[in-house]
Amino acid sequence: MLKLRQLFSTKQTPQSEKIPGSTQVKNSAGGYSWQVDDWTRLDRFLILGSDQGSYYASPRKLTVENAEAVMRCVTADGLRTVQRIVDISKSGRAPKNDPALFALAIAAAADDDATRKAALDALPQVARTGTHLFHFMDYVEGFRGWGRGLRRAIGGWYNHKTPDKLAYQAIKYQQRDGWSHRDALRLAHPKALLNEQAFIYKWITQGVAEFPAELLNDKGVRLIWAFEQAKQATSAKEIIRLVEDYRLPWEAIPTQWLKDPKVWNALLPSLPVTATIRNLGRLTNLGVLAPLSRNSQLVAARLTNADALRKARVHPLQVLSALTTYQSGHGVRGRLSWTPVTKVVDALDTAFYQSFGNVNPINKRLVLALDVSGSMSWPTIAGVPGITPRVGSAAMSLITAATERDVQFMAFAGKFVPLNISAKQRLDDVVKTVSSLSFGRTDCALPMVWARENRVEADAFVIYTDSETWYGGIHPTQALQQYRQALGIDAKLVVCGMVANGFSIADPTDGGMLDVVGFDTAAPNVMSNFIRN
Ligand code: CA
Repeated sequence: MLKLRQLFSTKQTPQSEKIPGSTQVKNSAGGYSWQVDDWTRLDRFLILGSDQGSYYASPRKLTVENAEAVMRCVTADGLRTVQRIVDISKSGRAPKNDPALFALAIAAAADDDATRKAALDALPQVARTGTHLFHFMDYVEGFRGWGRGLRRAIGGWYNHKTPDKLAYQAIKYQQRDGWSHRDALRLAHPKALLNEQAFIYKWITQGVAEFPAELLNDKGVRLIWAFEQAKQATSAKEIIRLVEDYRLPWEAIPTQWLKDPKVWNALLPSLPVTATIRNLGRLTNLGVLAPLSRNSQLVAARLTNADALRKARVHPLQVLSALTTYQSGHGVRGRLSWTPVTKVVDALDTAFYQSFGNVNPINKRLVLALDVSGSMSWPTIAGVPGITPRVGSAAMSLITAATERDVQFMAFAGKFVPLNISAKQRLDDVVKTVSSLSFGRTDCALPMVWARENRVEADAFVIYTDSETWYGGIHPTQALQQYRQALGIDAKLVVCGMVANGFSIADPTDGGMLDVVGFDTAAPNVMSNFIRN
């Protein structure tokens, strides 16, 4: 009898085999996991993207898989799909907006009239900048023709902007991906509702020789005028005056003037928070940011203003990337170098936590387990330099560490790896610790096996993984059942998916298991609500 039990059991199955009677499918690593449903897949795609591929799949393969999942969502419930795209894009939950624009382009080509209309109506909410609009135009061409509905939606994007917003977009985001405002306007031919708009359209599509005096009363037209003046400026002094008088954005300043610290001194007081984050290295290199300087104080205050971060939709992954780059003292492409200002590094560290918004404490005993196996080391999340899934996991788990009292960290890769990190450490230090761990095979059952063997009392396990588990004599869900029985605790499992693939170790039939998406800014609170109830 014993022999038979060793040969077949529903309580303990090697990960290389399917749990008998379950709906598990073979994952890319050759083990068995569950397939997530298309709505979870949609969320993973919107937040994590696919243009970098994964350890197992090329960018093309992963994108095709995700696009097909989006299409199935559109077919199943087009309006729900559009709403989801809008919600995730508008709330700033994703590090990049491109997956949302791509999914919206798919929905804009749906067979169903109501879905197509909803997608086109949502365009200004998802495409909030000129660059977004150009990306959308680039994507949508791959799915449909330039019919009337689409042209009207593009025209509406321009027509519904006040002249000053329109002018700002026109000078700040001039062109991208082979698309420019001129192309968009020539294609859509919106009929201007105001004289000022008509003038700006004309300036964009044909250029204008002069600015009529009566239109120069308008803020938008004046901004365009100032932009033209900046192009002809012959001294930094002229540029500074234009910046101070007309609030020209830095993108509108001819590049030769952006080497002058005095120009940046003028730009800095009204530089938006996202632009500030992007230019920290340059500003330090030019000496605009220096130790103990007033500008450093100003920048630190800006970076730690929770309200401003939220309004600008600054994503924690952006902050993390800015922190690791700034701290390294040289640009990703290497030409520019600087000596990091400590106050700025500290401000970025604070900004990382603030960009997650208010996180409700769970107040339970938690095991936070990071999958540090080989497949978590490549490629970067959402294409953000330096941030691999394993590094991203460590950073994200610090949010929990910062809000909870009882957290045990562990890392696993074929075996248990001691992991001593804490919320008191600065992020870049944690990134360094996790980056230096050695790789190994993936066994996502290890956290539960380890906790059972060591009688560690936990109310929940939170596992950061790609769910490509294959090594080990027991499936994670079975290890959790054993743990629950052995310790008499009805422990929960939250799977934080760090790659936009279709797999999960969470058993969809077990109400005590949940899938969330890594680097979703809403994930900490979703986790918290699930574990508390
Ligand atoms: Ca792996």
